[in-house]
Amino acid sequence: MSDNRYDVIIIGTGAGGGTIAYHLAPSGKRILILERGDYVPREKANWDPQAVNVDAHYNTKESWLDRDGKELHPHTNYYVGGNTKFYGAALFRLRKEDFGELRHHGGISPAWPICYDDLEPYYTRAENLYHVHGNRGEDPTEPPANSPYPWPAVSHEPRIQQLSDDFARSGLKPFHVPVGVMLDEKSPHQSRCIRCNTCDGFACLVGAKSDAQVVCIDEAIKHSNVTLLTNSPVKRLETDSSGREVRRVVVERDGSLESYSADVVVVSCGAINSAALLLRSANDKHPRGLANSSDVVGRHYMGHTNSVMMAISKCPNPTIFQKTLGVNDYYFGAEDFNYPMGHISFVGKLDAITLKAGAPALAPNFTLELMAKHSLDFWLTSEDLPDPSNRVTIDRDGRIVLAYTPNNLEAHERLKGKLKQAMKQTNCTMHGQECHQGLFGRNLYVGQRIPLAGVAHQNGTIRFGHDPRTSVLDPNCKAHDVDNLYVVDGSFFPSSAAVNPALTIMANALRVGDHLMKRLGVSSQGNERSLRSDRELAVSR
Ligand SMILES: Cc1cc2nc3c(=O)[nH]c(=O)nc-3n(C[C@H](O)[C@H](O)[C@H](O)COP(=O)(O)OP(=O)(O)OC[C@H]3O[C@@H](n4cnc5c(N)ncnc54)[C@H](O)[C@@H]3O)c2cc1C
Ligand code: SF4
Repeated sequence: MSDNRYDVIIIGTGAGGGTIAYHLAPSGKRILILERGDYVPREKANWDPQAVNVDAHYNTKESWLDRDGKELHPHTNYYVGGNTKFYGAALFRLRKEDFGELRHHGGISPAWPICYDDLEPYYTRAENLYHVHGNRGEDPTEPPANSPYPWPAVSHEPRIQQLSDDFARSGLKPFHVPVGVMLDEKSPHQSRCIRCNTCDGFACLVGAKSDAQVVCIDEAIKHSNVTLLTNSPVKRLETDSSGREVRRVVVERDGSLESYSADVVVVSCGAINSAALLLRSANDKHPRGLANSSDVVGRHYMGHTNSVMMAISKCPNPTIFQKTLGVNDYYFGAEDFNYPMGHISFVGKLDAITLKAGAPALAPNFTLELMAKHSLDFWLTSEDLPDPSNRVTIDRDGRIVLAYTPNNLEAHERLKGKLKQAMKQTNCTMHGQECHQGLFGRNLYVGQRIPLAGVAHQNGTIRFGHDPRTSVLDPNCKAHDVDNLYVVDGSFFPSSAAVNPALTIMANALRVGDHLMKRLGVSSQGNERSLRSDRELAVSR
């Protein structure tokens, strides 16, 4: 084993790890980034629905187990940039109320140890950094923001605009979804993003999606004090004899083990893998897993309750970039259901190849090909609640075991009902209300796989809080039990809210980054420089 010393080691390069690496890079501190995967190869298959959605070409081939010991093939990706390489880049702030305690039909969504105002400046910075396109003031549940989005919203294509108008006429408040793509609709010839139909779920072949590799890691490694090692899975973390400090980060590289050390170790492997890493790092001082005196590591796994619902109309839907429209009118409830229901938006436009894999029920008189041409493909998200028995554990061989029983399902059923109702009220100029043929669920289970959404929105397994008896991390995301260990991926969420998680992970990574700058004694000037450059980068790209 060789020993190499750094100021900071960051493990993982996704929304959390990539963003904090970007933030700390100008500090001049020696930073080592360890990523288990490689770069996503740039190849035509990046945009091939068969390769991506049917053959699961880019997913890990790793298998996990469910609570009954049955194999799961997780729909997750190990690459530089993590899951942001494949995400739909819908970049939402949590609602202000999500930070407090909320009563749901299925139970209580607990409060966070920080409030919305603590995160607001970092949301703004994350939106600038990740080029978020949106319009403030449209979404009826949006929290207050101190500045506009850096870019105007991505426009609706005609079919989506028509739907938006229909929804508005029926009394809803549809809004433009905030999206992180480098699209310049005013100067299409200069726009890096070409507005294509293979964005959500696909890696961007032209590097125009605001993912953590393109936006953060590529920038971070321009600094000579930053080193990135790819194909370097971290196997375990070892502490000193007191158990209070991580001494060694043990990595497998080219088939042999190497070890690295740092004043500060930041874990950001994604909520499931970070929990597994801490559990695998058990030792005499941490017999239940590293930083796990609370027995909370791995517990309270959440991943949202998600559905894809296809609304079939007689009129075709030739939309290319569909993920522009959202409806949050039912986010906190409705007159006939006084509990939060969740969020309605879109997935990328589904095609017949992808539909075959999801095997939806066929609409009467429609083939799969015809359904794909006529469908509006909705994405519905409801909050799942933190249940300690929904958890990540490891078996004797160190393999991941994921136990999950869905909860708060009534909210999701009600949300589907609301969408059905809203679609019945749509009215096309050619066919009237007859145009809408019904809503069809696209099955998210492909073969024996767990649902895509089951791990795509993973969070909650290493929750932060004030009380070391009920949380693993303190409000700065430092482990209560270990003085130099931080976690900045989606693990820290005490509740999952019902909007997509990535922007909150990014904003929090910037917040923890500020804390680390202070801890490492970096002057606030360095900080200011990076604040300005976020904005400059957003404008210049
Ligand atoms: C198809 C898809 C669409 C999505 N769409 C959206 C969306 O529109 N909006 C949104 O907000 N969210 C979306 N998400 C979710 C979003 O991508 C995640 O919330 C986000 O990437 C999580 O960030 P993270 O830092 O927690 O983990 P990740 O981004 O998963 O990063 C974890 C990193 O750690 C690395 N790693 C893991 N284990 C180790 C180890 N032992 N050693 C070294 N490295 C390790 C991984 O390779 C990876 O690079 C989507 C996800 C998917 C899969
Ligand atoms: S070109 Fe634009 S729409 Fe197409 S994948 Fe890239 S970011 Fe997404």
